[in-house]
Amino acid sequence: PEEAELEALQHADVAALLPMPTARSDKYRRGVVGIAAGSARYPGAAVLAVAGALRGGAGAVRYVGPAGSAVIARFPETLVSDRGPAKAGQVQAWVVGPGAGDDASSVAQVLEAEVPVLVDADGLRLADRDAVRGRSAPTLMTPHAGEAAALLGVSREEVEGGRLTAVRELAARYGATVLLKGSTTLVADPGGGPVRVNATGTPWLATAGSGDVLSGLSGSLLAAGLPARDAGSVAAYLHGLAGRYAADGGPVGAHDVANAIPQAWRDVR
Ligand code: AMP
Ligand code: MG
Repeated sequence: PEEAELEALQHADVAALLPMPTARSDKYRRGVVGIAAGSARYPGAAVLAVAGALRGGAGAVRYVGPAGSAVIARFPETLVSDRGPAKAGQVQAWVVGPGAGDDASSVAQVLEAEVPVLVDADGLRLADRDAVRGRSAPTLMTPHAGEAAALLGVSREEVEGGRLTAVRELAARYGATVLLKGSTTLVADPGGGPVRVNATGTPWLATAGSGDVLSGLSGSLLAAGLPARDAGSVAAYLHGLAGRYAADGGPVGAHDVANAIPQAWRDVR
């Protein structure tokens, strides 16, 4: 029989994958997430990515970038550094790109790290393909349709009309796991195999900053040790549920979605 092209995680699959703290846990073993995001123009993207990482169960979050004071004002538990990612100290995973503007140097430094890296938003445009292909640790790229179109050099309509083909093609070209956002979320590994589909979300998630929250949340799962494909698909599952809880049939802001992640987590357990 032909291999299935798509698969979906069920509640029980997600529950089994969620990293739960134990008596032996400490903050380092739970996972330290590095966030290289935000700019003078888009400080909020950094705040939302940090929010997603903290609500996603990170033991600690290190923030590197120009939005440190905005991040600290909202989340005093963040470890803030004004040196670049290469000198920021140990992390178990990096998130790079949300609101990063033109900070190509941070993207290049993060791609050299020998830990899992999530690349989103501006980071997707700034990431050198050969640098991604040459990485020894896993890479998770999280474009929406417009960003995927730019990477593939096709129109947005072409991506929307062939999402499965687009996500597989990107994964193959970059040698990375790719999570394609939209009304459903698709996650493809570079080696092929079934594509994970998530449909827990709500159209209310189509709001500014929503993807930044997903980046941080996925980063915390990468830092906890989940493989890129599981980290991306579990994050999409929780983010979709959190969007539903936060929206409850009405409009939401992205920070509301971040605040509802713990409720989604409890529900899945
Ligand atoms: P971004 O475009 O980077 O802000 O990411 C948007 C987030 O919202 C992603 O997680 C999308 O999957 C989700 N999203 C966007 N539009 C929809 C929709 N119509 N239905 C469900 N989820 C959506
Ligand atoms: Mg985005």
